[in-house]
Amino acid sequence: TERAAPGVRGLQPYQPGKPIEELERELGITNAVKLASNENPLGPSPLAVEAGRKAMTDVGLYPDGNGFRLKQKLAERIGVAMERITLGNGSSDILEFVVRAFVQPGDTVLFSEHAFAIYPILAMTVSAKPVSVPAREWGHDLAAMAAAITPETKVVFVANPNNPTGTWLRGDELEAFIAKMPAETVVVVDEAYFEYGRRLESDYPDAVAWVEKYPNLVVSRTFSKCHGLAGLRVGYGISHPGVADLLNRVRPPFNVNSVALAAAEAALDDDAHLSRTLEVNAEGMKQLAAGFDTLGLSYIGSVGNFISVNVGREAGPVYEALLREGVIVRPIAGYGMPDHLRITIGAAEQNERVLTALNTVLGR
Ligand code: PMP
Repeated sequence: TERAAPGVRGLQPYQPGKPIEELERELGITNAVKLASNENPLGPSPLAVEAGRKAMTDVGLYPDGNGFRLKQKLAERIGVAMERITLGNGSSDILEFVVRAFVQPGDTVLFSEHAFAIYPILAMTVSAKPVSVPAREWGHDLAAMAAAITPETKVVFVANPNNPTGTWLRGDELEAFIAKMPAETVVVVDEAYFEYGRRLESDYPDAVAWVEKYPNLVVSRTFSKCHGLAGLRVGYGISHPGVADLLNRVRPPFNVNSVALAAAEAALDDDAHLSRTLEVNAEGMKQLAAGFDTLGLSYIGSVGNFISVNVGREAGPVYEALLREGVIVRPIAGYGMPDHLRITIGAAEQNERVLTALNTVLGR
C-alpha cells in the first residue's frame, strides 16, 4: 500500500450491484429480480445481438482501433464531425480520459454532492483532490459550483440527468454555467441517461448543441443504458476536435472490442427498439411512483431509468431484507443518501415484484 500513489491509498473500489446469479444461488431460487444497475429491462436490440454474433467470426483479428464505422454513424446521427468523437470502453472510459489528459496531482476535480461515485475515484487515481459541492433539492447547485471553481479546478463533472437522484438541469441554466467556466477548466456533461431525459421532459437540453461554442466542453454518452449493451462496454465523448485529439492520445489502443463496435453500430439502426425502451421506462416510472404513493413513501422525481425512494428509515437493512425477498436494488448511503434506495425502472412485472417486496419488508 505504501508504494501506491498517494490518492490511490485512500481509494475505495467502486461497488457494483450484487450479481443476480449469486443471490439466486444463496437463496436457492431462480426468479430473483435485479433492478440495481440501471440496465435496460428489454436488453439489447436483436439487431445488435445478431451483429455481435457475426463479429465473433473475426475475433482472431484486432478491432478497428479507430472505430471508424461506428464513429461515422454516430457523427451522421448526432450531426457532428467525426473528429469530435472519442470512443470509450463504456462512457466511464471517456470520463477517465478527460481526467488523465487534463488533471495533475494537486489539481482539483469538482462535482456535486450525490453525484456518480466514479468522479471522486477518478480524481484520486491521479492524486488530485475531489471536491464535492453541496446539492440543492438533490440536484446540482450550479451557482455554488461556479463559486467553488479555483485556478486548480481542471475538470468539472455535471451529470444530466444526475445519478442517483434523477434530477436534471434546464438548458438555460446549464449553458450559462458552461459559459462561465474559465477556458482552462474542462466541463464534462455526463449524459449517460440523456435519451430517457429527452423522452420524459419536452424541453430537455442536448449539450451536444453547445460543443461548437465551448471548446472546453466534453459531452459523454453510452450504449450501456437505453441501448441495453452494458456488458459490451461502449460509450463516446463529443468535444472540440483538439480535445478529442488529446483524449485519443491517452486512450489505450483497441479499447473498444470488435464485437462491441459491431453491436453498437447495429443498435443505432434500431429506432423501434429504442422507442420501446423509452416507452417501457416511462410506463414503469409511473407504475413505481404510483406504487410508492400507495405505500406512503416519498421519492425524488426522476427523468432517468431509475428512481430513488426514501424508505423512511436506514435503508441498508431494508436493502438486505429485500435481498431475502429475491429483489436486488441499490443502497446509496455511499452517495450521502442513507435513507434512500435507488431502483432501476424495470419491466411491469419486475416493478410489481419490487413494490410487493417493499410492502412486505416495510410492513405497510
Ligand atoms: N455516468 C453515469 C452518471 C452513470 O450512472 C454511469 C453508469 N452507472 C456511467 C456514467 C458509466 O456507464 P458506462 O461506463 O457503462 O457507459
